[in-house]
Amino acid sequence: MPLVPLDDARAHVLGACRVLAPVTVALAEALGRVAAEAVTAGEPVPPFDNSAMDGFAVRAADTAGAPVTLPVVATLAAGDPPGVTLGPGQAVRVMTGAVLPEGADAVVMVEHSAPIDGGRSVEIHRAVTPGTAWRRAGDDIAAGTVVVAPATVLGPAHLGVLASVGAEGLAVHPAPRVGVISTGDELVSGGAPLAPGQIRDSNRPTLAALVRRSGAVAVDLGTVADDEDALTRAFTAAAASCDAVVTSGGVSMGAFDLVKVVLDRLGDMRWMQIAIKPAKPFAFGLVGTTPVFGLPGNPVSSMVGFELLARPALRKMMGFPPSQWVRPVVPAVAGEDLPRRPDGKTHFARVVVVMGEDGRYRVTSAGGQGSHQLSAMAGANALAVLGDGGGVASGEPVGVMVLDSP
Ligand code: AMP
Ligand code: MG
Repeated sequence: MPLVPLDDARAHVLGACRVLAPVTVALAEALGRVAAEAVTAGEPVPPFDNSAMDGFAVRAADTAGAPVTLPVVATLAAGDPPGVTLGPGQAVRVMTGAVLPEGADAVVMVEHSAPIDGGRSVEIHRAVTPGTAWRRAGDDIAAGTVVVAPATVLGPAHLGVLASVGAEGLAVHPAPRVGVISTGDELVSGGAPLAPGQIRDSNRPTLAALVRRSGAVAVDLGTVADDEDALTRAFTAAAASCDAVVTSGGVSMGAFDLVKVVLDRLGDMRWMQIAIKPAKPFAFGLVGTTPVFGLPGNPVSSMVGFELLARPALRKMMGFPPSQWVRPVVPAVAGEDLPRRPDGKTHFARVVVVMGEDGRYRVTSAGGQGSHQLSAMAGANALAVLGDGGGVASGEPVGVMVLDSP
């Protein structure tokens, strides 16, 4: 069976996954989601001309001969109603955000003034030009402006902008509910004593966490034995109740690797040997319309398979723009030899990247590179992409996929 290039495998998966239909959510629920509709400002921001400073509203022409002393005829705080009029040769004390009085065309900041006669007058120390410290209605957002375009990934400032125009919610692509299933007769959950031959299920918590990190909701669907009936029941129920399913184990060449057998029977499944290490075996199928990602059982393989194949698809389902489906590979420099042997595959080595004093990422190994050695993955913050060949020597350029940045 020829090895499938990673890009081809990913294209197949992405082609089969659909963007989830929009739902309307409150602003508080929208962080990190992707907007599914344009939101247009129904009102200007700021809503009225107002002072940018604590100070004195004046006619700029009256300050031309500064220093000048002007009578203070009123005080306006933020939130006070409009209706105050400023006459020639007068000043109105204003706070930041106060409505500018009728007749004023500038504000002198309080730092450039001094109270006279207990504050009944003010001495203006500097001349100002018309428009100084004057925030115009709509100079942040004009009414009718599109404040959030479709496909915007909503961050804190977007939520603030939406609130500033009075939006209480908007249509977004929802977080997919992703069922996480571990398969294998040997698996034990939690801290129960291990019988000979048993191991602990580490993939389920790991994959559930990766699902959450990707922006989706993880649904823990437990462990399932290497049994066709049990797998059939579990996958059927998972596909019916979730938007996607991630499984680990049972996709290799062994006699009890039944995940691919069952998936093939339940739906439209493709089993692949991808030209990567780790995470070579991979099964992907649609059960009904629900994508099922059959990742290999070795702990590092399941994580790398998730990163390279499942995460991009989940990001697509969440409506992220294509540039945010696959993590970027950024340039770095090997801080030590990163050896490998030629085998026709791209290797994803578990590495630590740190920003060097020269402003370049420097890469060192995170430890044992076996696909069962999860501890090195825990110590890594990136995967180094080592193309087929003899590896990368210390000092040479190498691309890294950063998984975790502070
Ligand atoms: P498989 O892909 O089912 O052939 O499993 C490959 C290796 O990964 C075997 O050594 C399994 O025992 C191990 N493995 C499978 N599932 C898990 C899991 N959920 N947690 C930890 N190790 C696992
Ligand atoms: Mg197994």
